[in-house]
Amino acid sequence: MRLTMIGTGYVGLVSGVCFAEMGHDVVCVDVNPERIASLQRGEMPIFEPGLAELTERNVNAHRLSFSGDIASSMRGCDVAFIAVGTPTRAADGEADLQYVFAAASQIAATMSEGTVVVIKSTVPVGTNLHVRDIIAQRRPGVVASVASNPEFLREGFAVQDFMQPDRVVVGSSDTRAADAMERLYRPLALHGVPVIATTPENAELIKYSANAFLALKVSFANELADLCEAVGGDVAEVTRGLGLDARIGPKFLQPGPGFGGSCLPKDTRAYAALGHKNAARQSLIERVIELNQARKLSMVDRILAAMPAGASRGTVAVLGIAFKANTDDVREAPSLTIIPALQRAGLTVRAHDPEAMKAAAPLLPGVSLCDDPYQAAEGADAVLVLTDWSEYAELELPRLANAMRGNLLFDTRNLYRPEDVTVSGLLYRSLGRSPPVELENQPPVRAPRIAAV
Ligand code: ADP
Repeated sequence: MRLTMIGTGYVGLVSGVCFAEMGHDVVCVDVNPERIASLQRGEMPIFEPGLAELTERNVNAHRLSFSGDIASSMRGCDVAFIAVGTPTRAADGEADLQYVFAAASQIAATMSEGTVVVIKSTVPVGTNLHVRDIIAQRRPGVVASVASNPEFLREGFAVQDFMQPDRVVVGSSDTRAADAMERLYRPLALHGVPVIATTPENAELIKYSANAFLALKVSFANELADLCEAVGGDVAEVTRGLGLDARIGPKFLQPGPGFGGSCLPKDTRAYAALGHKNAARQSLIERVIELNQARKLSMVDRILAAMPAGASRGTVAVLGIAFKANTDDVREAPSLTIIPALQRAGLTVRAHDPEAMKAAAPLLPGVSLCDDPYQAAEGADAVLVLTDWSEYAELELPRLANAMRGNLLFDTRNLYRPEDVTVSGLLYRSLGRSPPVELENQPPVRAPRIAAV
């Protein structure tokens, strides 16, 4: 099939490249000329494992191209996907649909008779109908076949998630759109992927409720970690026992510094706003939103409380700026709340991230961005781990300790075994674990080297 993908953000680019890999002819379109120019040069605008190789292979096979011109890309198009952003509207927390509607108008102006329009962006209930109306108004006489096909891929595992999803959801009340989608996803269905054909309203609700539920699960794990700390539990063991219950499942049960990224914060706000607007308050999710904001700030209170008094105006080395490992995405990353709060508290911040420093640099004024974690730790009173990059889990802790001035390692991702940290002469604080039991025959903890300030 000939596909046009409008929008080359995370969702659009990954979907376009993966559809090409499945054998379709795909043109990816974006209004951002720099993005298209870099893609045409073979440069990836995002860091996503495996995506560059897949892109190169499909460009070379002439199944995949990039264009800034929607009209030419719509020529002969069987299915046009809308994969543009739906950011939070500041006034009311609802999803801002202006980019979706603009893309729908542009498609309507240039589509052929028979083109199916599919909404991949995360959109509230009713958007499918609205897009159908836009097309009907702009192109009277042309049948507007519209489907909703939300995307569930995880950044960092996007290619794998697209090619082997837990399920595909297609919402449509139009037979032609439903048939086109059935054909498009047949290769996945043949490999056993469940394809849920439902109404547009259900499809739109499935996507939002999935993200709302995941946010709830993360917030539950965060509060559970606090309880473990208070009563002497170990959150890793508790969540392992919890997650092996098939009704619960192990994923999204790790505590951390609060959820971030381009989806959970924005989609929980839109979900709560949808409930509020329709007199069906989603009070659980409203509370999750509040808890998550408080969670990020509580990390600042905790590190300040753990720092020796003499270091109250000292230096913190932050390891990890991206909202999670294996991405350079810093949208709504906890680091962007926590680092400025540390600076406001009078601390100097040095930071490192394997991939996200370019994206983060303009957002973190006054922060020294360092080439590697050890350089970031140079002269620091405390090291604060915010992202679960595997290279941080593999750090040489004695080397880290030597580079530091102080000795506090505050780990919001529970990457280390407490005994490994303490034998390196570091004072360890993590989440959801009781303070480490002093081991016998343990070398004495090195006296903190906090310079007077
Ligand atoms: P996500 O990462 O969730 O997929 P983004 O908001 O990062 O979403 O990306 C959306 C992309 O869609 C951006 O690159 C933006 O330039 C592009 N875009 C927005 N509106 C249009 C449009 N009308 N036509 C083509 N591209 C568009």
